[in-house]
Amino acid sequence: MKMKKSLIWMLLVPMALGIVSCSDEIDNPVVVTDDKPFDYEQDMDQTVRPGDNFYNYVLGAWLNSDNPSPSIFVQNQLTMNSVMENAVLNNTDPLITAIRQQAELEVADDSKSVALLKERLAMLEAVETSDQLYAAFSKLHELGYNPLFSIKNATNEGRKVWGVLTTGAMGKLMEQLIPMQQPQYVQQFVPQICSVLSNVGYSEERIQQITSNAVVIELLEMQAYISSLSMVKKPELVFSRRAPSTDQQQQLELVYNLMGLDYNEIQDKIDNTAEQLANLLKLFASAPQDAEVLASLRDYMIYKVIEMDCYLMPTVKPNVTVAEMAETTVSPLRYYSYKILTESFGYENIHREECTAIMEQMRQLFIEHIDKLDWMSDATKAQAKHKAQKMEFYIGYPDEWNEAMYPTQVEGTCLLETATQMRQFANKIALQLAGKSLDETRWDIWLTFARFTTDNAFYTTGNNALVILPTWLIAPRFDTTKNEATLYACATTFGHELCHGFDANGAKSDADGKQVNWWTPEDEAAFQTKQQELIALFNQLEAYPGQQANGEYTLRENMADYGGMTLTLELYKRHLEQQGFKKEQMDEQIRKFFIAYAQIWKIEKERSLEELQYQYLTDVHSAAHNRVNGMMRLQDDWYRLYDVKPTDKLYVAPENRVKIW
Ligand SMILES: [Zn+2]
Repeated sequence: MKMKKSLIWMLLVPMALGIVSCSDEIDNPVVVTDDKPFDYEQDMDQTVRPGDNFYNYVLGAWLNSDNPSPSIFVQNQLTMNSVMENAVLNNTDPLITAIRQQAELEVADDSKSVALLKERLAMLEAVETSDQLYAAFSKLHELGYNPLFSIKNATNEGRKVWGVLTTGAMGKLMEQLIPMQQPQYVQQFVPQICSVLSNVGYSEERIQQITSNAVVIELLEMQAYISSLSMVKKPELVFSRRAPSTDQQQQLELVYNLMGLDYNEIQDKIDNTAEQLANLLKLFASAPQDAEVLASLRDYMIYKVIEMDCYLMPTVKPNVTVAEMAETTVSPLRYYSYKILTESFGYENIHREECTAIMEQMRQLFIEHIDKLDWMSDATKAQAKHKAQKMEFYIGYPDEWNEAMYPTQVEGTCLLETATQMRQFANKIALQLAGKSLDETRWDIWLTFARFTTDNAFYTTGNNALVILPTWLIAPRFDTTKNEATLYACATTFGHELCHGFDANGAKSDADGKQVNWWTPEDEAAFQTKQQELIALFNQLEAYPGQQANGEYTLRENMADYGGMTLTLELYKRHLEQQGFKKEQMDEQIRKFFIAYAQIWKIEKERSLEELQYQYLTDVHSAAHNRVNGMMRLQDDWYRLYDVKPTDKLYVAPENRVKIW
């Protein structure tokens, strides 16, 4: 009797620590499991010690395979392509229906579009003086081609939407370069694009000339674009508006006037990214003094027109499909493209409610964690909690689509005219949103500047808002038919975005997105120490063979990963406890969670060494294997579940496992 009592007492101790009290279940043990599919075993390499390299333990067989299965990133990209095709071909929305019908007719006869295209090209061919060049630039801008420069929207400090003067519009092929950020492909793509000029009567010799002129300017454009992307890595640049120098101000005035905008009127709505555009602005302004520059810019505009229009006409690009023609027509309307893509995914397949529920739990858990921190004063805690409470979540898609964000009918008498109408509309929207507050624009702004395929989840410091778009909320990433461990692994990304609000940079802005220091000096010093510890831990890893990782450069993303992993793991453990999972079954699920987490970053085999090197230099995220290994070694549960020993390569002594939140 006495024995039995102490046995029960031993069993109850872990229960009491683990929230659930369940004396009934001791008498009637019920084994709870999650029998939904978990099919990642085939990628694993059990010969690798998890403590040495968890990434290779989970993915070793995949990494060594001659015929590797595609990663979720690749699967998603393929899904996206087919969903977009489906959207333009089958959506019954009146606008896309009208565009599709027009494209179908023009597959048989595109003469009207071709005539209009030739008219525009002839206007450019006739350019001989700088006045004519600038007039042609104005005309092309009015027609929505945005050669060289365009105004796009960005969000900035204090919940405000800005117009940003940035590089010109990009055609389909160039758009593909953005995620790669590799300007050297310009030399391959521009000749490809220019070659179709032969289909509208251009001689080989003239095409050569246009190509070599266009390459020079396109390289400048791409470099300016990429350096504006890299501003993200220098937050101090993003969050202060820059006053241009006198020279640049004159150059900017010239460009704005030619775009039909009054520089003085729009000043408080436009953020000049003059630094990134310096070379282009200077070149553009020098056209009157330099005949060579003039010829280059003229040829660049010819290239730009053909780049934007070639997918609209079978005469220009033989074998172009109705889907490509329709997609090219609607693509400038990003908001509208989201609408038809979302409808094509099917609302029922986008797990918006599940994600929202997890995010709200995550927010409360984060606040709980803040309350318990031993390194932060009550004053700083109050500010941090206020910021977390006020953070806005934009998840999935808007409750209602805003019809003011896209035209409702087609006005063009041919497809090129219709495409022109769509581009003009997109330009008008960009100007309308500029200068407004986030509260006025709500979803409109996110769906205007985000790229559906690449900007799939993000946090914006200046707005204290996070956005999670459908690519993270659909299968195969978020697949409700799979083991719940995989869903929670996916949710680490949701937590990651939340924690960006409190990363090394996010923590410098307040609940309203304003750059205000809400830290007491002592707390800030303690926070800095923790950051230094995390930097040191990542410096111990390799970015690629032979190259030490850069813990400082990747700090913000590593902090967000750390928060996402820590919060989600705890949420998942609570969820398992609530469902009645017991020790062994629970441990099995947590192992699955760690494995599924590594699976999210199953991508490295699809990257060449050159790409990994490039990523090391330009990407603020850690390499995929470090996003996994670097996080695992901070989690006490991982040491326990995989019997990680001090002799294992990833081992970190308990007192050195950085605990931030
Ligand atoms: Zn991030």
